[in-house]
Amino acid sequence: MTFATLGLIEPLLRALETLGYQTPTPVQAQAIPAVLAGRDLMAAAQTGTGKTAGFAVPLLQLLTLEGPKVAANSARALILCPTRELAEQVHASVAEYAQNLPLTTYAVYGGVSINPQMMKLRKGVDILVATPGRLIDLFRQNALKLNQLQTLVLDEADRMLDLGFSEELANIYRMLPKKRQTLLFSATFSDEIRSLAGQMLNDPLTIEVSPRNVAANTVKQWVVPVDKKRKAELFVHLMRKGRWKQVLVFAKTRNGVDALVDKLQGLGINADGIHGDKPQATRQRALDRFKSSDVQILVATDVAARGLDIEDLPLVVNFDLPIVAEDYIHRIGRTGRAGNTGEAISLVCADEVNMLSAIEMLTRQTLARHMEQDFEPEHRVPDTDASGQVVKKPKKPKKPKSSGGGGKRNLGKWVDSGEVAPAEPSIKPVRKVPVFNTGPRKKK
Ligand code: AMP
Repeated sequence: MTFATLGLIEPLLRALETLGYQTPTPVQAQAIPAVLAGRDLMAAAQTGTGKTAGFAVPLLQLLTLEGPKVAANSARALILCPTRELAEQVHASVAEYAQNLPLTTYAVYGGVSINPQMMKLRKGVDILVATPGRLIDLFRQNALKLNQLQTLVLDEADRMLDLGFSEELANIYRMLPKKRQTLLFSATFSDEIRSLAGQMLNDPLTIEVSPRNVAANTVKQWVVPVDKKRKAELFVHLMRKGRWKQVLVFAKTRNGVDALVDKLQGLGINADGIHGDKPQATRQRALDRFKSSDVQILVATDVAARGLDIEDLPLVVNFDLPIVAEDYIHRIGRTGRAGNTGEAISLVCADEVNMLSAIEMLTRQTLARHMEQDFEPEHRVPDTDASGQVVKKPKKPKKPKSSGGGGKRNLGKWVDSGEVAPAEPSIKPVRKVPVFNTGPRKKK
């Protein structure tokens, strides 16, 4: 199959050729004809599968071939994204696909001055990419009218709900014309999203190019058990041992990001951090410098890093596991993109055993554990597996026989999702995982 057989017009074919896209990815092969036919869509596609082109390319074609010219302060298509970085990235892709078309595109998001955005919208834009909050601000200030809107795209729809945008989304729906095409894209689909989609979409075509909630099978995943207080030390050790060149590191909190960045910079390591407390310009600069390899280690929270496309990123490290198991799939989806292979290493302490268990259940795999010599935890991480079972009572740790013999317990083989049974898990995955301290109590 080629892009030409999908019925795309010549200027789009030329743009895709310039970008080096030779054949459509599975999600593109299904989504492009459906969008061109005017269908509503509910598409579950893994990160890195090319879903942006899956909705943007046919949308550009529809806008080129049909509909009146865009009016002042209006948009003909709206793409909603959960984060500012994602909005920028999606817009950059849309602009690349549109390079030979007489269409205008623009991205609006919070954290930067609204005035230039209001000015830019005066003439109207064909495709507007937006985060929900800023879109509503612009609408309320009469800088944007939505009565000409013909297509709405929700990208990473589940994340928008997770980030608490459900009220904003409800407000936005109220502003939209009833007759429109709606495309709902997400890497993962919770039951909550499925029921929302059921209400929002009109006779949607469902596309599921990969089994539900399975991480990209191009990513080798493994876990290193460690005591919480030694995580930073272990990270530096692994980094030096593995001669890591470019690593995206996820920490749970903003303070956690700052503390790790300070520690790494204190050791002379070229590191920077992004999280929601930092000004947008600083976030974008750190990200750009990481993408261009001017920064070696980028430490991020989930909110700042979702959906980002970083070319050839070899390694993701979960310094902390995510509280929401689905975020694990998004995090590790930053590597192993566009057919490349990648690695995802999680540093897991005893406190995080329930999160580990939820991730294994959700992704239907038992992650290999690799004990790092001299970093064996005092607080043992109880055994877990893909059934969701946590062996709560830790066995008494055996004393090491000799100084050189430790460090090999539980050394598993690489696990990738190719080894995972495609069946649904027998127990429903837990979305929000409470944190229980299952490790032995600290002595006072
Ligand atoms: P996405 O999942 O939309 O973030 O895309 C992931 C990466 O795959 C991006 O770097 C795209 O430029 C790239 N990509 C998307 N579609 C294709 C294709 N058909 N052939 C080659 N690369 C692609």
